Amino acid sequence: MSEPRAGDDLERYEGMFRFRDQDYYDRHLVFDHVVPMDGANQRQRFEAVARSLRDVLTQRWLLTKETHHRRNAKQVYYLSMEFLIGRTLLNTVNNLGVRGYVEEDLRSDPHQDWAELLDAEPDAGLGNGGLGRLAACFMDSLATLEIPAIGYGLRYEYGMFRQEIHDGSQVEQPDNWLMHPDPWEVARTTESVEVSLNCSFEFQGGTLHRLPGQPIHMLGIPYDRPVAGHGGRTINTLRLWGAASPDFFDFGEFSGGEFVDAVLYKVMAESLTRVLYPDDSTARGRTLRFVQEYFLVGCSLADIVRRFRDRGNAWADLPDKVAIQLNDTHPAMAVAELMRILLDEARLGWDEAWDLTVRTLAYTNHTLLPEALEKWPVEMFQTFLPRLMDIIYEINHRFLGDVRAKYPGDNWVLSRVSLIEETPARQVRMANLAIVGTHSTNGVAQIHSRLLREVTVADLADIFPGRFSNKTNGVTPRRWLLLANPDLAALLTEALGDSWPRDLDRLAELGPLAEDAAFREKFRAARLAAKVRFGNWLKRDLDVEIDPETLVDTQVKRIHEYKRQLLNVLHILTVYHRLRTDSSFDPAPRTYLFAGKAAPAYHLAKRIIRLINDVAAAVNRDPRARGRLRVAFLPNYGVTLAEQVIPATDLSEQISTAGYEASGTSNMKFMMNGALTIGTRDGATIEMGERAGEENIFFFGLTAAEVAARRPSYDPGWHYQNEPETRAVLDMLSSDLISPGDPSRYDLIRQVLLDHGDYFMHLADLGSYIQTHDRIGNLWREDPEGWTRKSILNVAASGYFSSDRTIEEYAREIWDVKPCPIP
Ligand SMILES: *Cc1c(COP(=O)(O)O)cnc(C)c1O
Repeated sequence: MSEPRAGDDLERYEGMFRFRDQDYYDRHLVFDHVVPMDGANQRQRFEAVARSLRDVLTQRWLLTKETHHRRNAKQVYYLSMEFLIGRTLLNTVNNLGVRGYVEEDLRSDPHQDWAELLDAEPDAGLGNGGLGRLAACFMDSLATLEIPAIGYGLRYEYGMFRQEIHDGSQVEQPDNWLMHPDPWEVARTTESVEVSLNCSFEFQGGTLHRLPGQPIHMLGIPYDRPVAGHGGRTINTLRLWGAASPDFFDFGEFSGGEFVDAVLYKVMAESLTRVLYPDDSTARGRTLRFVQEYFLVGCSLADIVRRFRDRGNAWADLPDKVAIQLNDTHPAMAVAELMRILLDEARLGWDEAWDLTVRTLAYTNHTLLPEALEKWPVEMFQTFLPRLMDIIYEINHRFLGDVRAKYPGDNWVLSRVSLIEETPARQVRMANLAIVGTHSTNGVAQIHSRLLREVTVADLADIFPGRFSNKTNGVTPRRWLLLANPDLAALLTEALGDSWPRDLDRLAELGPLAEDAAFREKFRAARLAAKVRFGNWLKRDLDVEIDPETLVDTQVKRIHEYKRQLLNVLHILTVYHRLRTDSSFDPAPRTYLFAGKAAPAYHLAKRIIRLINDVAAAVNRDPRARGRLRVAFLPNYGVTLAEQVIPATDLSEQISTAGYEASGTSNMKFMMNGALTIGTRDGATIEMGERAGEENIFFFGLTAAEVAARRPSYDPGWHYQNEPETRAVLDMLSSDLISPGDPSRYDLIRQVLLDHGDYFMHLADLGSYIQTHDRIGNLWREDPEGWTRKSILNVAASGYFSSDRTIEEYAREIWDVKPCPIP
């Protein structure tokens, strides 16, 4: 890949980006909104800037499409129920290399404040967490690497809920992100697609009734968003399907665990793409979710096939022109749907259709949690998609025939690998369908891919050994370093030149600079500047005050038992206990930050949020903790908050029970920004240790193998009986200190830890976690130079975790696609 020359982009775009000279901006501001120039509000100004940018992208966007079409290049289609894209304006301006120009052009408008303008854009939260964010990072890398690609998702009118904290508890508010017209998207009504279910609905006396056998036709309207790669050469498309126009939604029913079910019938009757499921491990509102998944698959495959045929291709060439990646099993119905198209519409024979299907599709697994492996009732398929059910039966029949020939007489193996689970109820195992019906199954970090092969689907891995591989996740350094951390990015450019955002392996050149005292000084200054910037943002946006000189210790991610926010809380309580009982105890001053959303029906996770807030309140008002220990829960975790908090963090908490986190990606974002990591040997954190050197990562606790070995005999009560600090801390949970006047508030949590077996083994790891934290505190205070050295070495080793590297591996080893440069 050729390197962009420094300054290239600015020159090329100079003419295009003179908003004011060319009147793009003024025209949009005044004519789109019919307001006088100086009467527009920030939102209107944001829309005008975004629309002007889209205007100047348009030529390039059209040229990209036209080039892909003309060259008939092999194209990647990334199917995902989630795209956690966040804001687009700054990312686009940054990727085009014109940030300075745009800022300067806009300065001539006296009403314009750049920071406020950026804040006027909603954070597009069309996903729950890591899986959706991965899809968004991949789109950035695909465009940057000039690979022809389209992302397909759903245009949820309500994305991930907005989290508010009331009296310490999570309250879910609807995220009405499309309340104002979105300036990036283009509705392409002429390319609408019809998909059908064999069942319609009737609303009677408070419940929804199915009317099987009455076909219902749904219209998918494509909404396209430009995805500008770094350097601005390729502009790919993110195509989100909308099902209907929004009309009415009952906000009152939105809070509480039943909110999905409460709105189910309305959403069903009104609009399929109304709401994203706020849960990344189990499917709730099951019927609606099922239909949503089919809607994504049906619309996208129809679109892919239409585009393939429009280019004059023969069916036999499908795998040479099309690579379809399934982001988890959510779009796994694509196996049966593509077979349906090839059999019923293209009229191919079974064997040819099957060969083309398997060679076109590929599947990424994201989880080992059994409860998160999707299964859909056979009855649901029979009701809504009887043709797909017939096809799945036929796939299974042929597949089991092959398995029987391979393992004669072994009925156990047949029952384990079958696409159909017989008991307790007949269900389609979507992961099995995805593995059998695609040519590639990959996990997302080495340990995860290994456990997937050796434990979760061992029989299938035995049957198809050549299909399994690993593709360790990555994150885009454009958003997570260049955009999020301007201070550090400037230092990197000063040290390395400006090619590192497209070639992150160049960060390795920082390694020797860790020994250079002058560089360490600059590095420390850049990190402190990021912390000060964050502190100001926090004060302004959330009214939280922190001291940037303290060790900032951060855990931000979905709230889940396996991610073990509770372990972090138990450590904080240990420190607090020492402060209360030992007047000579003098720890390194720390600020503990948390953020994350809990699925609305996940009561324990919501209780953990309350606990964090109660602990924060107790600690922050106690004079003994002042200047030493501060705790804050930052509401409404999302991409925008992540961009702020990650660059300001000194210590990243990656403390899942080993064997449960598939990869993690926030671990990589923190590493790139110079945070040190305290973590278990889990997910991609293991590979971070391999690259940075074990001495530069703080590992603690049981390994995945040790967790499995210990589980049968594990007794959390032993730790309570034999470890005085563990006992003291657990007793604090039911004392007046944390929940004044309501001592039973955390009984649930005590029970989980002590009476119900502590499934995620918090107490087994607590001792080693506390000791490791003690070492970290000492290093921070006693050896700041040593700390900075480690921090630089972590940044230097983070190049591997660019999603460009991940996408290059997918392109080479799964998709067999090449870049298609745009002239
Ligand atoms: C990166 C990211 C995640 C994933 O975080 P993990 O700690 O890897 O689970 C989730 N949400 C947002 C907003 C992110 O940016």
